[in-house]
Amino acid sequence: MAPARRRPEKETPELPSIPGGFLDWRHGHWSDVRAQCRYCPQMTNLRDHRGRPAHKVCAEEAARRWVAEQNERYESERGKST
Ligand SMILES: [Zn+2]
Repeated sequence: MAPARRRPEKETPELPSIPGGFLDWRHGHWSDVRAQCRYCPQMTNLRDHRGRPAHKVCAEEAARRWVAEQNERYESERGKST
């Protein structure tokens, strides 16, 4: 997988490492303290890769959205004539 031209982007979410778009959060993603998910109004004990409260499903959804956004941007930039 060749890395594309790198540009400054808005924050890159943790990208799923498991086929099917699933994150591997089995280790080090649990806190005893419940806090509000950064993606939805629900409380969670889970933490994302930066230690912020997030549901695994919400983080996976965010990753999917981010990837789709990148693809869209790539398509629209490629469509532009120079
Ligand atoms: Zn959530």
